[in-house]
Amino acid sequence: MFFVDTLEVEKRIRIMRKELEKFGISEELRGYNWDSPPVEPIEYGVKLSVSDFCGICKTLRDIYLKYVEGLKPKPNVYMLSGLAYHEVIKEALYQIKRIIYQKPVNGSEIIEEMLSSDIPDTICDRLNINNSMRENCKKLFKYIVIQCASQVDRILAKYPYADADCIVGKALPPIVERKVDGSLIGLSDNLSVDFFIPYNAIADLKSGEVRDQNAIALAGYALALESDEMTDVNFGFVIYLRFKNGFVNFKLKHVLMSDELRRRFLELRDEMIELINSGRDPGRPDSCPKNCCFYGVCNEADS
Ligand code: SF4
Repeated sequence: MFFVDTLEVEKRIRIMRKELEKFGISEELRGYNWDSPPVEPIEYGVKLSVSDFCGICKTLRDIYLKYVEGLKPKPNVYMLSGLAYHEVIKEALYQIKRIIYQKPVNGSEIIEEMLSSDIPDTICDRLNINNSMRENCKKLFKYIVIQCASQVDRILAKYPYADADCIVGKALPPIVERKVDGSLIGLSDNLSVDFFIPYNAIADLKSGEVRDQNAIALAGYALALESDEMTDVNFGFVIYLRFKNGFVNFKLKHVLMSDELRRRFLELRDEMIELINSGRDPGRPDSCPKNCCFYGVCNEADS
């Protein structure tokens, strides 16, 4: 992964390989066994989104409101910042690839052209983002551009006659936001996996707090990819994006796509589908976090 330390990624992959050798992964829990239990969904009508697995409602009322009542979640600050940071990374990489394919360039020319653009502002204007989040988008954009430019220079130093295709292939991540059809396992047919990297590993970028649910969601992506592409996905990373002391900071959490994690994902999926099919309101938990995207709906008197 170009923006986190490659050595660190390789070290974590080695750790996960050891765990894989020790514990293994059961065939019956692979996504490509979507036509038999426990991977087979109890019904195919519901198409859950992977973000549903990161919900913060203890009673799953958010799922009821979204799928039974048909209400749209109101994006909270974490959702909005996550969306903006994803857009910034995607657009930065797309534009850098475009520049490389247009003409022979070195790293400093990429930096000059990219940093004189208004890409982060355009994204923030579109998403109606201001203040510190806008500043963070600019910092992230600059960080990505500089990292990519340095990778390009590194490739050119080693292969001075490399063509555009070779530079793009070696310096930049091949796939950002890979589209995946998760419908065979009860998920949406239009999922986006943030990064699909060498070693058949997947990575999900998060800007919110470190939560257990992020690993469960990653297992959802792994199963969906396995069902869609008939391939094994054993390793995952949750990359937490932070802005500390004015610097962009990435915290890496590695996650083996273990049997236990797969089972937790499948159990939660079945629970959600059962709830939706029943049409029953599960009620509110004892307390509702203020950053819940349905807070205003469930707590009208307090909002
Ligand atoms: S506001 Fe409360 S009850 Fe409603 S979805 Fe959120 S956590 Fe659940």
